[in-house]
Amino acid sequence: MAVAEQTTTLVCAWCGYNAGLDRISDHIHVVNAQVSMEHAVDRCPECKRFTASATWGRGLHFVYKVLEYRKRFRRSSWVAVYPVVCSWCNSTATEPLEINVTVANPVSQRFKYDLYSCNYCKRMTAISYLGELRNHRAERDETYHSLWYLDPNQEGL
Ligand SMILES: [Zn+2]
Ligand SMILES: [Zn+2]
Repeated sequence: MAVAEQTTTLVCAWCGYNAGLDRISDHIHVVNAQVSMEHAVDRCPECKRFTASATWGRGLHFVYKVLEYRKRFRRSSWVAVYPVVCSWCNSTATEPLEINVTVANPVSQRFKYDLYSCNYCKRMTAISYLGELRNHRAERDETYHSLWYLDPNQEGL
């Protein structure tokens, strides 16, 4: 998430711990970051989870929850987890399901989409994250199961 306030202390994006995180690396690539630049990653001594951060221009900080995916013989992948509100029922109990899904009707060709599932209504929300988070109701194509439609009711599909 973009935070415009002046802050020098990095706060754990998972649990809010703010008494100093452990820097793991200054140069990681977050697969689905809001800005395409290198991020730093810190581990929280309290909850042991990872927070990625980047500073864009003067004092615009991007801070995300990130998950590490270890790969054999290759560098780890880092995936940002965004605070997503379900577009169907407004629940905040969502979980990331799939990164970079194929969308039939993207708002812009520049956007990539991640899919979140709702623990409450079990339906899917697609988000784009370039610069800002945008949420959409997502519905699977009945024939091509790896293809998704955004906001199907609003567009009359
Ligand atoms: Zn923490
Ligand atoms: Zn829901």
